[in-house]
Amino acid sequence: MALRVQKYGGTSVADIDRINHVADRVQKASDQGDKVVVVLSAMSGVTDSLIRLANQATEKPDKKELDVLLATGEQTTAALLAMILKSRGYKAKSFLGFQAGIQTDKASGRARIVDIDAKNIQSALENGNIAVVAGFQGADIDGAITTLGRGGSDTSAVAIASSLKADVCEIFTDVEGVYTTDPRICSSARKIHRISYDEMLEMAILGGAKVLQIRSVEFAKKFNVPVHVRSSFSEEEGTMVVNESSDMESVIVSGVTCDMNEARITLKRVPDQPGISAKIFTPLADAEISVDMIIQNTRSGGETDLTFTVTKDDFDRAKEISGKVAREVGAVEVLTAEEIAKVSVIGLGMKSHSGVAATMFEALASENINIRLISTSEIRISCVILAKYAELAVRTLHSAFGLDQEK
Ligand code: ADP
Ligand code: ASP
Ligand code: MG
Repeated sequence: MALRVQKYGGTSVADIDRINHVADRVQKASDQGDKVVVVLSAMSGVTDSLIRLANQATEKPDKKELDVLLATGEQTTAALLAMILKSRGYKAKSFLGFQAGIQTDKASGRARIVDIDAKNIQSALENGNIAVVAGFQGADIDGAITTLGRGGSDTSAVAIASSLKADVCEIFTDVEGVYTTDPRICSSARKIHRISYDEMLEMAILGGAKVLQIRSVEFAKKFNVPVHVRSSFSEEEGTMVVNESSDMESVIVSGVTCDMNEARITLKRVPDQPGISAKIFTPLADAEISVDMIIQNTRSGGETDLTFTVTKDDFDRAKEISGKVAREVGAVEVLTAEEIAKVSVIGLGMKSHSGVAATMFEALASENINIRLISTSEIRISCVILAKYAELAVRTLHSAFGLDQEK
């Protein structure tokens, strides 16, 4: 008998037929004698339409009330699945985030889980129930409802699995697992059978957190939760996200990602003096804007050009702050570009193999794609290019690193 946490994403619970299909799978696990905790997302599109409603209601929706509103998406699916299971003669009980003991900080819309007291879930399981938990939500220390950021049900599931010491956390989604790149962009993408937490983390960060929310992977890594990403529409084994093992370094590049959610800001002709970078980046940090890539090009005449990227959400504020700082430090002008994409190659094998950057640059050059910015870590290389070349770049890199599946 195993304890399984199963999370179903938005497309897997998109309508009553699909929720019935989820009930079939849950029922099967329960019939096998497994204890099952189900964590659900809202029906696909529901979170977006709730956000639209809030924006129609008022120009600047109150963040706490927005949390209360968005949490209803997951409340709906949890209740529907629990009632379907009960109607089939199973013992089931639905839990909202706070009833499941998920305590978060107070950061509305992007709250972090600080503690889980799983005693209610535990006793429901002991009494023979299937526990159905609304994902994406918790409550702060004062009992106010919070949400965990887009894609947050993944984190709910991994956190619950960790606190219950579950045998596995299964993430059921609309693809068969984690692929070498987004299968919607590249038809020759291959399913990866095993991937390390670190590679998965880079893929989540660099791929705009599709498949798994970044925090869910951080959580899984920290608490050693075995995660199985798989399709809710097939019985195929998916991808196991696990601890690094020695054989994994033989694969030099295991994935290619693309993130279209960044924008670039350049301060032209900044005086090349000590302390200037601090003057530029401190106000951005004070405004809680995180800066991703930074590059400095030294010019003649004691001046440099300073370029950095921020997420598109932060772009307007970052541009305004940069304009102000530019005047203060005596920069000549501020240039911006929103139509950019960051393509990255990721692989544990980069630690022990050289030449990956050269292969990447040559592949992009072969398609005449100009590289604007480059950044690297021990296990990845990222290049910023023009957005219009993003898909071509992904496909080119995928094939340059031998990742295409055999046809
Ligand atoms: P869910 O609603 O189940 O949480 P998401 O939309 O959050 O699903 O994540 C699944 C989607 O992630 C897939 O439909 C796929 O298009 C996209 N995706 C992006 N990169 C990858 C990748 N490397 N492997 C698999 N899917 C990916
Ligand atoms: N419903 C939320 C979202 O759309 C959370 C999730 O699906 O994980 O982002
Ligand atoms: Mg998701």
